[in-house]
Amino acid sequence: MADVQVKDSFYIGGAWVPATGRAPIPVVDPSTEEQVASVPAGQPEDVDAAVEAARAAFELWAATPAAERARLLSAAADALEARTDEVAALISTEMGTPLSFSKAVQVGNPVRVLRSYAEALGMYSFEEQIANSLVVKEPIGVVGAITPWNYPLHQVVAKVAAALAAGCTVVLKPSEVAPLSAYALAEVFEQVGLPGGVFNLVTGLGPVVGERIAEHPDVDMVSFTGSKQAGKRVMAVGAGTVKRVALELGGKSAFVILDDADLGKAVKVGLANCFINGGQTCTAWTRMLVPAEKYEEVLELVREGAGKYPVGAPMDEGTRIGPLANANQYKKVVGYIEEAVAAGATVVVGGTERPEGLDKGYYVKPTVLAGVTPGSKVEQEEVFGPVLAVIPYGTEDEAVQIANDTPYGLAGGVFSGDQERALRVARRMRTGMVDVNGGRFNPLAPFGGYKQSGNGRELGEYGLEEFLEIKSLQL
Ligand code: NAD
Repeated sequence: MADVQVKDSFYIGGAWVPATGRAPIPVVDPSTEEQVASVPAGQPEDVDAAVEAARAAFELWAATPAAERARLLSAAADALEARTDEVAALISTEMGTPLSFSKAVQVGNPVRVLRSYAEALGMYSFEEQIANSLVVKEPIGVVGAITPWNYPLHQVVAKVAAALAAGCTVVLKPSEVAPLSAYALAEVFEQVGLPGGVFNLVTGLGPVVGERIAEHPDVDMVSFTGSKQAGKRVMAVGAGTVKRVALELGGKSAFVILDDADLGKAVKVGLANCFINGGQTCTAWTRMLVPAEKYEEVLELVREGAGKYPVGAPMDEGTRIGPLANANQYKKVVGYIEEAVAAGATVVVGGTERPEGLDKGYYVKPTVLAGVTPGSKVEQEEVFGPVLAVIPYGTEDEAVQIANDTPYGLAGGVFSGDQERALRVARRMRTGMVDVNGGRFNPLAPFGGYKQSGNGRELGEYGLEEFLEIKSLQL
């Protein structure tokens, strides 16, 4: 058994505060099913101490010149980048994503986002004149950040970098499934000299630590990323103090392939989007909508393309799909495949059998389902694993209708030989983000969803504005 890394403190008020008497939460490597670390299970009083520290630090941090806040964010980006290999390995160990992806995206994106907010502070105007009013944008106050395990550091930094740039102070509760990179981030902030209390870390379980953050009268805003179920609970609890609650929730995104598209290219882009991070991506295009007359051709391309996603240990170089992040996730994903098949779907490739040679670990093969009926469970609910449904449609209108007909509206894609036509379809999709003909991820563009995918926008200037209050001064 591997050495167990014991984290036994919280980071509060600029100090590592021992978490005495707190039962540890085990952190399990999903590729071996063995415990590799533990973090303390915070209690409501730990949240209270962190909120007090954040409150005490707020006035000074809010009054710190933007250029100084930018300097610290930029220094944090450099310090994190210098630890890329180590932090990427931590993330791959705690949630199973391939190491190369971990370096490039799981750590690369947070570094880019920290830098983007350092740069944004050089350009953003916190004041605006409207007729006889001076409109000033002020930090909202103490922010509670609650984050998931799938991009454990990116989801943290998307909130924390923007909140700190805005002049807010933060209490972070990372996912209990993948909390280790949050410790690395706290160390980075300590190393670069972020004033004590500006960033605070309390680990623990959602219903205990998360709900105390959401209900706390001295937390001005909660920024939550995670499941729809937990998000609804956070919103309900937060309503008690009418705090702002920004939600970034799940998705069931559609990729619409139009009849004039280059099918080879489209399928390649679609599979990459669906299978990245083992399908554990909120924006994953898990429904591929295909013109009925091209259905068989696409299934053939998909069968061929899925073979290019080898499943294996996160640390092996050739791996493109690691294990799912934990035992629950494994059970859930296998359950969805079984139920879909029982409801009449057919497995084109993959399925519930373990991948060859992998007898341990939460591995699921990349799986493609045909014959999935619009409105069925697997077509409507977020699976959060490497599972793609290929669904035929008759007309362009029908494709848009199927794409829009779920409770979610986070992301999507359109592929067409005609860019204008693709754009027209993209505009009709009731969803926060659409990639047109393979348009790349843009870390400066607003990121967030329509409908039950949430109500917030992260990244770039829109992400900064989430953490601002607006005051009118009549002159
Ligand atoms: P989750 O909802 O189980 O947990 C997310 C966080 O909420 C964790 O820190 C958890 O401890 C906490 N939590 C759980 N119950 C809580 C409660 N009652 N009160 C307060 N906090 C609570 O989600 P997960 O399984 O960690 O992550 C996967 C989900 O996150 C998926 O649905 C995915 O789509 C979503 N997600 C969304 C985005 C986005 O930006 N829209 C990004 C990544 C992940």
